[in-house]
Amino acid sequence: MSRILIVEDEVSIAELERDYLELSGFTVEIETDGKAGLERILQEDFDLLILDLMLPEVDGFEICRKVREVKNLPIMMVSAKKEDIDKIRGLGLGADDYITKPFSPSELVARVKAHMARYERLVGSNTPVNETIEIRGLRIDKTARRVWINGEEKNFTTKEFDLLTFLAQNPNHVYTKEELFKKIWDMESIGDIATVTVHIKKIREKIEMNTAKPQYIETIWGVGYRFKV
Ligand code: CA
Repeated sequence: MSRILIVEDEVSIAELERDYLELSGFTVEIETDGKAGLERILQEDFDLLILDLMLPEVDGFEICRKVREVKNLPIMMVSAKKEDIDKIRGLGLGADDYITKPFSPSELVARVKAHMARYERLVGSNTPVNETIEIRGLRIDKTARRVWINGEEKNFTTKEFDLLTFLAQNPNHVYTKEELFKKIWDMESIGDIATVTVHIKKIREKIEMNTAKPQYIETIWGVGYRFKV
């Protein structure tokens, strides 16, 4: 969920902004003086800052400048004076938007959404996305090598993970125990195809509600196993 910090000394305005933003699904925090606001924005992870210009202790100019030195989150500056807005634009402090009071709350929300979407696209493009497989309640994160069943994480050994992932990646395909053994254990000659049976049993104990009636890995009698989708 996206978190927004409002630094605004006029409490009624801050609360109005917060109420509208919360209705749009944002989590909103308020600070009413510049010093506390600056500390929080530097120390915590917010996704957007709504910053009033005239503030006690530390003003919006100073906050914007300091935040920009270390963070690239969107900053929307708010002022009652049109002249101030023109002035801060000229200063090139790095704010992303400027709003003159009074403004309509719905306009504020629309602008916040637009900046948030743009910022997420920017940040998102730099963040590597983990490769995951999701089938019903089962979630396999191949990059992190982690497995969840209905939101609960389960611990898998390396081979259990490899076997489950291989089957889940190739659903509706029946593999013999020999094929699976060759595939997962490869050239390791220790063990035999009974190892496959043992590992399937352990995987089922972790992911199946009822191991007697498997929902994911089916036994095809006399042939092998198939991952059901
Ligand atoms: Ca003010």
